[in-house]
Amino acid sequence: MKLLEGKVALVTGGSRGIGAAIARAFAQHGATVAFTYLSSAEKANGVATELEGLGVKSKAYKSDASSYEQSENLIKDVLEDFGQIDILVNNAGITRDNLMLRMSEEHWDEVIRTNLKSTFNLTKHVLRPMMKNRGGSIINISSVVGVFGNAGQANYAASKAGMIGFSKSIAKEVGSRNIRCNAIAPGFIETEMTEELDEKTKDAYLTNIPLKRLGTGEEVAGACVFLASDLGAYVTGQTLSVCGGLNT
Ligand code: NAP
Repeated sequence: MKLLEGKVALVTGGSRGIGAAIARAFAQHGATVAFTYLSSAEKANGVATELEGLGVKSKAYKSDASSYEQSENLIKDVLEDFGQIDILVNNAGITRDNLMLRMSEEHWDEVIRTNLKSTFNLTKHVLRPMMKNRGGSIINISSVVGVFGNAGQANYAASKAGMIGFSKSIAKEVGSRNIRCNAIAPGFIETEMTEELDEKTKDAYLTNIPLKRLGTGEEVAGACVFLASDLGAYVTGQTLSVCGGLNT
Protein backbone atom coordinates (compact mmCIF):
# COMPACT_ATOMS: atom_id res chain seq x y z
CA MET A 1 0.00 0.00 0.00
CA LYS A 2 1.40 3.39 -0.99
CA LEU A 3 1.57 6.13 1.68
CA LEU A 4 -1.07 8.41 0.10
CA GLU A 5 -3.32 5.88 -1.65
CA GLY A 6 -6.98 7.04 -1.62
CA LYS A 7 -6.03 10.63 -0.73
CA VAL A 8 -6.75 13.74 -2.78
CA ALA A 9 -4.14 16.52 -2.61
CA LEU A 10 -4.33 20.14 -3.73
CA VAL A 11 -1.00 21.92 -4.31
CA THR A 12 -0.90 25.62 -5.21
CA GLY A 13 1.81 26.64 -7.69
CA GLY A 14 2.45 23.13 -9.01
CA SER A 15 3.59 24.07 -12.51
CA ARG A 16 7.28 24.47 -11.64
CA GLY A 17 9.94 24.23 -8.95
CA ILE A 18 9.13 22.95 -5.48
CA GLY A 19 5.36 22.72 -6.16
CA ALA A 20 5.90 20.47 -9.19
CA ALA A 21 8.26 18.27 -7.13
CA ILE A 22 5.61 17.98 -4.38
CA ALA A 23 2.93 17.08 -6.95
CA ARG A 24 5.23 14.35 -8.40
CA ALA A 25 6.09 12.92 -4.97
CA PHE A 26 2.42 12.80 -3.94
CA ALA A 27 1.55 11.04 -7.22
CA GLN A 28 4.40 8.55 -6.72
CA HIS A 29 2.87 7.75 -3.34
CA GLY A 30 -0.55 7.11 -4.93
CA ALA A 31 -2.45 10.38 -4.33
CA THR A 32 -4.82 12.03 -6.78
CA VAL A 33 -3.20 15.43 -7.38
CA ALA A 34 -4.98 18.69 -8.19
CA PHE A 35 -2.64 21.63 -8.58
CA THR A 36 -2.73 25.26 -9.66
CA TYR A 37 -0.71 27.65 -11.75
CA LEU A 38 -0.99 31.34 -12.58
CA SER A 39 0.47 31.79 -16.06
CA SER A 40 2.54 28.74 -17.10
CA ALA A 41 -0.28 26.79 -18.77
CA GLU A 42 2.06 24.73 -20.96
CA LYS A 43 4.29 23.66 -18.07
CA ALA A 44 1.22 22.88 -15.94
CA ASN A 45 -0.29 20.65 -18.63
CA GLY A 46 3.10 18.92 -18.94
CA VAL A 47 3.14 18.18 -15.19
CA ALA A 48 -0.47 16.88 -15.31
CA THR A 49 0.38 14.52 -18.18
CA GLU A 50 3.49 13.33 -16.35
CA LEU A 51 1.48 12.58 -13.20
CA GLU A 52 -1.16 10.67 -15.13
CA GLY A 53 1.73 8.63 -16.56
CA LEU A 54 2.37 7.52 -12.96
CA GLY A 55 -1.10 5.97 -12.92
CA VAL A 56 -2.94 8.53 -10.78
CA LYS A 57 -5.63 11.10 -11.56
CA SER A 58 -4.39 14.66 -11.91
CA LYS A 59 -5.67 18.04 -13.06
CA ALA A 60 -4.13 21.49 -13.45
CA TYR A 61 -6.30 24.52 -12.58
CA LYS A 62 -5.55 28.11 -13.52
CA SER A 63 -6.28 29.98 -10.29
CA ASP A 64 -4.72 33.03 -8.65
CA ALA A 65 -4.04 32.03 -5.04
CA SER A 66 -4.02 35.68 -3.97
CA SER A 67 -7.69 36.01 -4.99
CA TYR A 68 -10.26 35.12 -2.33
CA GLU A 69 -12.97 34.54 -4.93
CA GLN A 70 -10.84 32.39 -7.23
CA SER A 71 -9.68 30.30 -4.25
CA GLU A 72 -13.28 29.69 -3.17
CA ASN A 73 -14.17 28.61 -6.71
CA LEU A 74 -11.07 26.42 -6.94
CA ILE A 75 -12.00 24.44 -3.82
CA LYS A 76 -15.53 23.97 -5.21
CA ASP A 77 -14.13 22.79 -8.57
CA VAL A 78 -11.70 20.30 -7.00
CA LEU A 79 -14.47 18.92 -4.77
CA GLU A 80 -16.72 18.56 -7.80
CA ASP A 81 -13.96 16.80 -9.77
CA PHE A 82 -12.55 14.54 -7.06
CA GLY A 83 -15.10 14.47 -4.19
CA GLN A 84 -12.79 15.37 -1.29
CA ILE A 85 -9.58 17.19 -0.35
CA ASP A 86 -7.39 15.43 2.23
CA ILE A 87 -4.19 17.42 1.78
CA LEU A 88 -3.67 21.12 1.02
CA VAL A 89 -0.19 22.48 0.29
CA ASN A 90 0.02 26.27 0.21
CA ASN A 91 3.13 26.52 -1.95
CA ALA A 92 2.49 29.39 -4.42
CA GLY A 93 4.91 32.19 -3.70
CA ILE A 94 6.90 35.06 -5.18
CA THR A 95 9.79 37.36 -4.26
CA ARG A 96 10.09 41.10 -4.96
CA ASP A 97 13.39 41.80 -3.20
CA ASN A 98 14.67 45.24 -2.33
CA LEU A 99 16.11 47.11 0.60
CA MET A 100 13.45 48.77 2.77
CA LEU A 101 14.41 52.27 1.65
CA ARG A 102 13.72 51.29 -1.95
CA MET A 103 10.80 48.90 -1.48
CA SER A 104 7.60 50.11 -3.10
CA GLU A 105 4.18 49.75 -1.50
CA GLU A 106 3.15 47.77 -4.56
CA HIS A 107 5.90 45.17 -4.02
CA TRP A 108 5.06 44.93 -0.32
CA ASP A 109 1.37 44.32 -1.09
CA GLU A 110 2.05 41.91 -3.95
CA VAL A 111 4.25 39.63 -1.83
CA ILE A 112 1.94 39.67 1.19
CA ARG A 113 -1.09 38.93 -1.00
CA THR A 114 0.54 36.10 -2.97
CA ASN A 115 2.41 34.41 -0.12
CA LEU A 116 0.30 35.07 2.99
CA LYS A 117 -3.22 36.05 2.03
CA SER A 118 -3.28 33.06 -0.35
CA THR A 119 -2.71 30.80 2.65
CA PHE A 120 -5.76 32.34 4.34
CA ASN A 121 -7.82 32.13 1.12
CA LEU A 122 -7.24 28.41 0.54
CA THR A 123 -7.29 27.31 4.19
CA LYS A 124 -10.51 29.22 4.85
CA HIS A 125 -12.34 27.33 2.09
CA VAL A 126 -10.82 23.89 2.62
CA LEU A 127 -11.53 23.62 6.36
CA ARG A 128 -15.26 22.88 6.10
CA PRO A 129 -14.84 20.03 3.59
CA MET A 130 -11.97 18.65 5.70
CA MET A 131 -14.16 18.76 8.82
CA LYS A 132 -16.92 16.94 6.91
CA ASN A 133 -14.29 14.41 5.86
CA ARG A 134 -13.19 14.06 9.52
CA GLY A 135 -9.56 14.93 8.91
CA GLY A 136 -6.91 16.54 6.78
CA SER A 137 -3.37 17.81 6.56
CA ILE A 138 -2.48 21.40 5.64
CA ILE A 139 1.15 22.16 4.81
CA ASN A 140 2.34 25.73 4.40
CA ILE A 141 5.59 26.30 2.51
CA SER A 142 7.29 29.03 4.52
CA SER A 143 11.05 29.69 4.47
CA VAL A 144 14.04 29.83 6.83
CA VAL A 145 13.99 33.55 6.00
CA GLY A 146 10.68 33.71 7.89
CA VAL A 147 12.50 32.30 10.93
CA PHE A 148 15.67 34.43 10.96
CA GLY A 149 14.99 37.31 8.51
CA ASN A 150 17.08 38.52 5.57
CA ALA A 151 18.28 41.97 4.52
CA GLY A 152 16.54 42.96 1.28
CA GLN A 153 13.59 40.63 1.86
CA ALA A 154 11.48 42.37 4.54
CA ASN A 155 8.28 41.77 2.54
CA TYR A 156 9.10 38.11 1.83
CA ALA A 157 10.35 37.38 5.38
CA ALA A 158 7.23 39.00 6.88
CA SER A 159 4.97 36.89 4.65
CA LYS A 160 6.85 33.68 5.53
CA ALA A 161 6.93 34.46 9.29
CA GLY A 162 3.19 35.14 9.01
CA MET A 163 2.68 31.67 7.56
CA ILE A 164 4.37 30.13 10.61
CA GLY A 165 2.11 32.00 13.08
CA PHE A 166 -0.88 31.12 10.92
CA SER A 167 0.03 27.41 10.89
CA LYS A 168 0.41 27.24 14.68
CA SER A 169 -2.96 28.99 15.19
CA ILE A 170 -4.82 26.73 12.76
CA ALA A 171 -3.22 23.67 14.39
CA LYS A 172 -4.68 24.82 17.74
CA GLU A 173 -8.08 25.67 16.25
CA VAL A 174 -8.81 22.44 14.38
CA GLY A 175 -6.63 19.78 16.01
CA SER A 176 -9.71 18.40 17.77
CA ARG A 177 -11.23 17.80 14.31
CA ASN A 178 -8.26 15.62 13.28
CA ILE A 179 -6.96 18.34 10.96
CA ARG A 180 -3.23 18.96 11.21
CA CYS A 181 -1.45 22.10 10.05
CA ASN A 182 2.32 22.45 9.76
CA ALA A 183 4.85 24.71 8.07
CA ILE A 184 7.93 23.68 6.15
CA ALA A 185 10.85 26.11 6.08
CA PRO A 186 13.06 25.34 3.08
CA GLY A 187 16.52 26.82 2.95
CA PHE A 188 18.22 27.48 -0.36
CA ILE A 189 16.56 25.24 -2.98
CA GLU A 190 17.54 25.09 -6.66
CA THR A 191 14.55 26.46 -8.63
CA GLU A 192 13.80 29.36 -11.00
CA MET A 193 13.25 31.51 -7.88
CA THR A 194 16.87 31.11 -6.76
CA GLU A 195 18.34 31.14 -10.29
CA GLU A 196 18.02 34.94 -10.14
CA LEU A 197 20.61 35.20 -7.33
CA ASP A 198 24.18 36.12 -8.26
CA GLU A 199 27.14 33.79 -7.61
CA LYS A 200 28.45 35.94 -4.74
CA THR A 201 25.17 35.60 -2.81
CA LYS A 202 25.04 31.85 -3.54
CA ASP A 203 28.63 31.38 -2.29
CA ALA A 204 27.83 33.33 0.88
CA TYR A 205 24.90 30.98 1.56
CA LEU A 206 27.01 27.87 0.90
CA THR A 207 29.55 28.95 3.54
CA ASN A 208 26.78 28.78 6.13
CA ILE A 209 25.13 25.53 5.01
CA PRO A 210 26.57 22.58 6.99
CA LEU A 211 25.71 20.14 4.16
CA LYS A 212 27.65 22.41 1.72
CA ARG A 213 25.16 22.20 -1.14
CA LEU A 214 21.84 23.62 -2.24
CA GLY A 215 18.71 21.54 -1.71
CA THR A 216 16.35 20.11 -4.32
CA GLY A 217 12.61 20.33 -4.74
CA GLU A 218 12.48 16.55 -4.20
CA GLU A 219 14.04 16.98 -0.76
CA VAL A 220 11.31 19.47 0.24
CA ALA A 221 8.72 17.13 -1.26
CA GLY A 222 9.96 14.29 0.96
CA ALA A 223 9.11 16.34 4.06
CA CYS A 224 5.67 17.06 2.56
CA VAL A 225 4.98 13.34 2.06
CA PHE A 226 5.88 12.78 5.72
CA LEU A 227 3.52 15.52 6.95
CA ALA A 228 0.74 14.61 4.51
CA SER A 229 0.73 10.90 5.33
CA ASP A 230 0.04 8.93 8.49
CA LEU A 231 3.79 8.89 9.16
CA GLY A 232 3.21 12.40 10.51
CA ALA A 233 -0.10 11.61 12.23
CA TYR A 234 1.02 13.03 15.62
CA VAL A 235 2.75 16.11 14.23
CA THR A 236 0.90 19.44 14.13
CA GLY A 237 1.69 23.11 14.70
CA GLN A 238 5.37 22.55 13.85
CA THR A 239 7.84 24.19 11.49
CA LEU A 240 10.13 21.69 9.83
CA SER A 241 13.30 23.20 8.37
CA VAL A 242 14.56 21.53 5.19
CA CYS A 243 17.71 23.59 4.81
CA GLY A 244 20.86 21.47 4.95
CA GLY A 245 21.37 22.75 8.49
CA LEU A 246 21.38 26.47 7.58
CA ASN A 247 18.87 27.18 10.36
CA THR A 248 21.06 25.69 13.09
P1 NAP B 1 9.06 29.12 -8.45
O1 NAP B 1 9.97 28.16 -9.14
O2 NAP B 1 9.16 30.56 -8.78
O3 NAP B 1 7.53 28.63 -8.68
C1 NAP B 1 6.48 29.36 -8.15
C2 NAP B 1 5.17 28.65 -8.40
O4 NAP B 1 4.12 29.42 -7.79
C3 NAP B 1 4.82 28.54 -9.88
O5 NAP B 1 4.14 27.32 -10.08
C4 NAP B 1 3.88 29.74 -10.10
O6 NAP B 1 2.95 29.57 -11.16
C5 NAP B 1 3.14 29.73 -8.78
N1 NAP B 1 2.50 31.01 -8.47
C6 NAP B 1 3.08 32.23 -8.31
N2 NAP B 1 2.15 33.15 -7.99
C7 NAP B 1 0.95 32.49 -7.98
C8 NAP B 1 -0.39 32.89 -7.72
N3 NAP B 1 -0.70 34.14 -7.42
N4 NAP B 1 -1.36 31.95 -7.80
C9 NAP B 1 -1.06 30.66 -8.09
N5 NAP B 1 0.19 30.22 -8.33
C10 NAP B 1 1.18 31.14 -8.29
O7 NAP B 1 9.22 29.05 -6.87
P2 NAP B 1 9.83 27.88 -5.94
O8 NAP B 1 11.25 28.17 -5.72
O9 NAP B 1 9.40 26.55 -6.43
O10 NAP B 1 9.08 28.23 -4.57
C11 NAP B 1 7.90 27.56 -4.15
C12 NAP B 1 7.60 27.99 -2.71
O11 NAP B 1 8.69 27.65 -1.87
C13 NAP B 1 7.38 29.50 -2.58
O12 NAP B 1 6.36 29.76 -1.65
C14 NAP B 1 8.72 29.98 -2.05
O13 NAP B 1 8.60 31.17 -1.32
C15 NAP B 1 9.11 28.81 -1.17
N6 NAP B 1 10.55 28.74 -0.91
C16 NAP B 1 11.44 28.59 -1.93
C17 NAP B 1 12.80 28.53 -1.64
C18 NAP B 1 13.84 28.36 -2.71
O14 NAP B 1 15.03 28.42 -2.38
N7 NAP B 1 13.48 28.13 -3.96
C19 NAP B 1 13.23 28.62 -0.33
C20 NAP B 1 12.30 28.76 0.69
C21 NAP B 1 10.96 28.82 0.39
P3 NAP B 1 3.32 29.96 -12.70
O15 NAP B 1 4.29 28.91 -13.16
O16 NAP B 1 2.04 29.92 -13.45
O17 NAP B 1 3.95 31.32 -12.62
